Amino acid sequence: MSKGRLFIVSGPSGAGKSTICRIVRKQLGINLATSATTRAPREGEVNGIDYYFLTVEEFKRKIENKEFLEYATVHTNYYGTLKSEVEARLASGENVILEIDVQGGLQVKEVYPDAHLIFFKTPTMEDLERRLRGRKSDSEETIKLRLKNSLKELEIEEKYDITIINYTVEKSCEELVKIINSNSKEEK
Ligand code: ADP
Ligand code: 5GP
Repeated sequence: MSKGRLFIVSGPSGAGKSTICRIVRKQLGINLATSATTRAPREGEVNGIDYYFLTVEEFKRKIENKEFLEYATVHTNYYGTLKSEVEARLASGENVILEIDVQGGLQVKEVYPDAHLIFFKTPTMEDLERRLRGRKSDSEETIKLRLKNSLKELEIEEKYDITIINYTVEKSCEELVKIINSNSKEEK
């Protein structure tokens, strides 16, 4: 069976990655690998679906056991992609989307040079701030930290294969579907 393709979606917090990926995954029947994190669950988030919510000790044990394909400290918490969420799916021919930060994206590219790196951003920084605040999920301190960190993330954009500027949900979904379809090995 042919191998699946790995798509890595990164970009500042609030750029719209989760919103767009949720719709596109459903539309194309693609798995989003569930990441592990040490951050606290937001209201409505479910363990094992949105993230595997771990303690710092549990996360460190998995690092020692080499269970992560990549991991990084993002906005003061650990986040990581478990090999178990990716390897078997790719081997069985499934496409997989990873929604991870830029440090993680570049680490995965080292292991899977074929991975397609997709960067998401908002049209302006004002849009980013408005959308982060509109999400109503983070404290003022967290929002400030995420806005500050977005500048560092934007410096890595040039290392990515393609950028989607998230003007409207509909247009961004169309763009992502097009990228995935034209880079899938099953195509043609
Ligand atoms: P990320 O996963 O990149 O952190 P989210 O998907 O949580 O970002 O989006 C941040 C907020 O912006 C959410 O409230 C979402 O509903 C909203 N949003 C996403 N895309 C758009 C868009 N194109 N226009 C306006 N609001 C958007
Ligand atoms: P949030 O706390 O808003 O869910 O995510 C914060 C940031 O962590 C986002 O930039 C997101 O892409 C990143 N992130 C989520 N999962 C992972 C992961 O498994 N690895 C890495 N490196 N970053 C992740």
